[in-house]
Amino acid sequence: MTLAARLRKGWCPGALRPMPAEDGMLVRLRISGGALSSRALRRLAEAGRACGNGLFDLSSRANLQMRGVSAQSLPALTAILAELGLLDEDAEAEAVRNVLASPLVGLDAPIDAGPIAQALEKALVGNKDLHGLPGKFGFLIDDGGALSLASVPADVRFDYCAERKVFIVGVGGDACEAECLGACEPGAVVDQALRIARAFLDHGARMPETPRRMRELLQSCGPTAIAKATRLRPAPPPQKARSLAEPCPIGPIRLGGGENLCFGVGAPYGRFDADMLEAIARGAEAFADGETRLTPWRAMLLPGGAEAEIEALKTHFSMENFIIDPQDPRLAVAACPGAPACAQGSTPTHADALALAPLARLLQPEGVTLHVSGCAKGCARRAATPYALIAKDGRYELIVENAPPNRGAAQGLTLSEAQYMLESIARQARAAREVEHR
Ligand code: SF4
Repeated sequence: MTLAARLRKGWCPGALRPMPAEDGMLVRLRISGGALSSRALRRLAEAGRACGNGLFDLSSRANLQMRGVSAQSLPALTAILAELGLLDEDAEAEAVRNVLASPLVGLDAPIDAGPIAQALEKALVGNKDLHGLPGKFGFLIDDGGALSLASVPADVRFDYCAERKVFIVGVGGDACEAECLGACEPGAVVDQALRIARAFLDHGARMPETPRRMRELLQSCGPTAIAKATRLRPAPPPQKARSLAEPCPIGPIRLGGGENLCFGVGAPYGRFDADMLEAIARGAEAFADGETRLTPWRAMLLPGGAEAEIEALKTHFSMENFIIDPQDPRLAVAACPGAPACAQGSTPTHADALALAPLARLLQPEGVTLHVSGCAKGCARRAATPYALIAKDGRYELIVENAPPNRGAAQGLTLSEAQYMLESIARQARAAREVEHR
């Protein structure tokens, strides 16, 4: 099967099923609970240099992707991953274990959802009938802590409601767009997740074309079919009031409003190199509790630091080309690896995103405002951004969300032309904001 065919079928790379790319094989590591010890981080940095090209991408599902691995170096890398306990029994078990939990799970929320996430991973691996779930089919557990996963889409989601001490169960999207199926006690999360997954497989098998995501199934047969398979109590829809704004976990973050801190460090477009991983490991050992948490927002967290250490941490990371300022304009842009690393990409997305970052911040004062994508697949980000540049044959299409009909897109743009158009939009946006504030 060609790479293009694999991508079309939603083929999902893993440690046991690396994906060929233009810069070598891509090895995606699905880190259980998103937690890595500093020893593991150092070892991965060494492995990245020895077996790959030393580059790592942090994905929008908080997976760490090692790039540039060769067929010759793959066995050595596999041995290192096994030594670190990062290898599953087989590729099917690895693929089905697609559970994203809150990055600070066990540290700042009204409930410790870590054991629930682990039990769900174990159950998915242990129930072989579920190994037929599509590669990208994912579960999410939001413990209600400060770094909300509300804006992260998932096929099956459990969002904790502290007032009622239950998880709200939703399917097919972020916390707002997901269809709410009801509520369940924390102890019932695993059972309900398995029921929903089986219902997806059963109903999907009856469709003319097997769906790859829950949203596709819902469009065909609606939420009732899935809801019937569960034994959930009816519940009002999830708290629409809970902010869908994406967290920006950069710099010091106070845990649970108390004395304990964690420190967030980002990298442009989620691209870390081996030196950066080692610097994070050193930071975690010297200033925090030695552990690093991965997030779906292109940042890693060092929990356990103290207020008095913040300045030292800032100095440590300012030397390593990290993003430690929440106002850094590079946080305004999402970009996939693009060309030359990816065969589908026709533009150098990272370099273009860097050139456009100051402009992207002018478009809107906060959040991710611009998505620069090497092709229409849009790997860097599923959630919509107000502006997107989608490459095709070396040129960009500019898409403006919520634009009036026939004014939402311009095609065949060079980088300079796209820049010019975005500058003009930014000027208009600034003028509108000024009028609003008068
Ligand atoms: S979106 Fe980017 S990384 Fe994904 S396939 Fe297209 S060019 Fe490659």
